[in-house]
Amino acid sequence: MKAIINANVYDYSSYSEDSYIKFEDKITEVGSMKGFNGADEITDVGGALVIPGLVNCHTHLYSAFARGMTIPFHPENFMDILQQLWWRLDSALTGEAIYGSALSSGIEYIKNGVTTIIDHHASKNSHGSLALIKKGVCDDLGMRGVFCFETSDRFDVDEAIAENLSFLGYKDGKSAGMFGMHASMTLSDDTMKKISSAGAKFPVHVHVAESIDDQKDCYKKYSKSIVKRFSDYGILNENSILAHCLYISPMESMLIAKNNCFAALNPSSNLNNAVGIADWNTLSALKSNCVLGNDGLGFNMAKEYQTFLFLMRYRTGSPVGFGNDELKKMIENSYTLASKLLGIKLGKISCGYEADMLVLPYFPFTPLNHGNVFSHISNGIFDSFRPTAVVVAGEFLMKNNRLRADEAQINRNSVIIAQKVWDSL
Ligand SMILES: [Zn+2]
Repeated sequence: MKAIINANVYDYSSYSEDSYIKFEDKITEVGSMKGFNGADEITDVGGALVIPGLVNCHTHLYSAFARGMTIPFHPENFMDILQQLWWRLDSALTGEAIYGSALSSGIEYIKNGVTTIIDHHASKNSHGSLALIKKGVCDDLGMRGVFCFETSDRFDVDEAIAENLSFLGYKDGKSAGMFGMHASMTLSDDTMKKISSAGAKFPVHVHVAESIDDQKDCYKKYSKSIVKRFSDYGILNENSILAHCLYISPMESMLIAKNNCFAALNPSSNLNNAVGIADWNTLSALKSNCVLGNDGLGFNMAKEYQTFLFLMRYRTGSPVGFGNDELKKMIENSYTLASKLLGIKLGKISCGYEADMLVLPYFPFTPLNHGNVFSHISNGIFDSFRPTAVVVAGEFLMKNNRLRADEAQINRNSVIIAQKVWDSL
């Protein structure tokens, strides 16, 4: 039995000071230090804050190898960004590049307190790619992950479907599969029919209206909206992730909620690609079905939470148009979604939940209490998010700022692999 002691514990619903947490792979006991009666392995955090590990609900681990890459890049629209950058990179990914980028990305996520990753993968060879990512993220680093391959008309559709289906067999609490699709604009009706018959009962993970071009393409070719098109194919299964949703209508928003699917919003990536800003007036109807991801842009989810908070205030035209309560709800939704996909209980520091936790030294200079603790999180902790310890399934992946994994060795190897990928472009 392990224990974290002298902790201030916050899990978005309760806050307690001078506490201890006992755990193995799951949390077994939480209480006041006055009642602490010892454990086999004790970690004294000296009054630091302990919160649940963060979840990234939409990312692309392979995009790590774009850092520092220089290729001709003169996009005039979103399709140009895909064709000139991302589709060139993913087409060059070998097995060692898929595995190497997963490892190096995972290390960055651990340092940023992200313990569960929902990844959306693409590479030239689909076969076995998801098992390679799982090996890096879950088996080697000890994190949790949900993985899928983006089926699209760019790839061999049958092979992409087969890769998704083969990985949907995995579900061990640490990892699980979804059915991956790129976006409406790269999925013909023939492909959609195949997906509909092959993956009908699984949650899908797909980009939706990341740019206005995707929605325009759908109306032009199929005379209906993207979400309606997917709904008509019967693939909006429970716990599906529709990433971005920048240009959806209130009717599409209702369809997402009605089918218990989730919209995963990625504010920084949208700004970086200059594709637009999510419309909170439409999305607020999805109260329990909105989550946040980062679309593979960096690794700092705390920054993403803050960016979204500020951006929605701008978008609604009001400094109170999007509040801390809404942000807190979105973070809680991310635990609900990840818990359902993995078949476990995440997001609370409470008996029976998975022992996925972060230690954050935080010594406030204004009063902190149960009533204002999330305000300290959103304005203080997220502003300078530096966990010193990260625990997943009861194992310390980082302790006293030292990673369990050999970061220097892994990244030295990644540099060699990334250079090979760049040389092959
Ligand atoms: Zn994406």
